Amino acid sequence: MSTATLTTGLVEIRNVHKSYNGVDVLHDVSLTIEPGEVVSILGPSGSGKSTLLRTINHLETVDAGWVTIDGALIGYEHRGDKLYELKEKQILGRRTQVGMVFQNFNLFPHLTALQNIVEAPVALKRLSKADARELAAGLLDRVGLGDKADAYPRQLSGGQQQRVAIARALALQPKVLLFDEPTSALDPELVGEVLDVIRDLAKLGTTLVIVTHEIGFARDVSDRVIFIDHGVILEQGTPGEVLGTPRHPRTKEFLGNVL
Ligand code: ADP
Ligand code: MG
Repeated sequence: MSTATLTTGLVEIRNVHKSYNGVDVLHDVSLTIEPGEVVSILGPSGSGKSTLLRTINHLETVDAGWVTIDGALIGYEHRGDKLYELKEKQILGRRTQVGMVFQNFNLFPHLTALQNIVEAPVALKRLSKADARELAAGLLDRVGLGDKADAYPRQLSGGQQQRVAIARALALQPKVLLFDEPTSALDPELVGEVLDVIRDLAKLGTTLVIVTHEIGFARDVSDRVIFIDHGVILEQGTPGEVLGTPRHPRTKEFLGNVL
């Protein structure tokens, strides 16, 4: 099957299946994300949210179906009618189009905030060290951490570390930014500063896909909310529709439990 003629959105997920040890984790998931769109993904623990995000940047392979970013496959290439997985080096190059922010920040502990951001654009985009440092300093300013360039992760609060992680993801100028429960590991008083940074990105028109349990935030920031359960998209629509007047019993039950 050719993907080229079928792609329209910035992110196209088509008929994706994924199972682990014979258990379906994603079941025939299709999703189109438009440029500039902010999409929140809600769902119970174990419903496949992280797996879905990870298929977008090919941290997970898919068993069937495909994913494109701006019309191009990330982890595969066509040879004739068949899809073949690319070599790791080629995947790394293509993956720069997708930024990812994880629950546990995943900063390099032995590098300063600035060095954490400088690393990838130098390695993957062949930016000079000087240009990368300038870019990194600007991004630290943007997330409100201009004075923390030389701090090591252990010297920063969780909220500050997560803001560095967001700056690091932005350094590759990705076409889409994925967040996997970006505030779940934070003390409650640190959640707001991270959500504020994400909110600013949304206002600037960055394409965002956010897995979150922060329902109020999802309502404020999203163009579209998706509810996933047992690897199936059960419901999607505007925040008003999905959060205000959910139709599916599972969505109602989930919202009843988290609100
Ligand atoms: P969520 O992010 O919604 O909590 P996940 O996508 O992490 O859910 O996981 C969905 C299901 O897939 C869970 O049942 C989980 O145990 C399983 N799973 C996820 N990753 C793996 C893996 N690498 N090997 C085996 N099972 C996995
Ligand atoms: Mg998860």
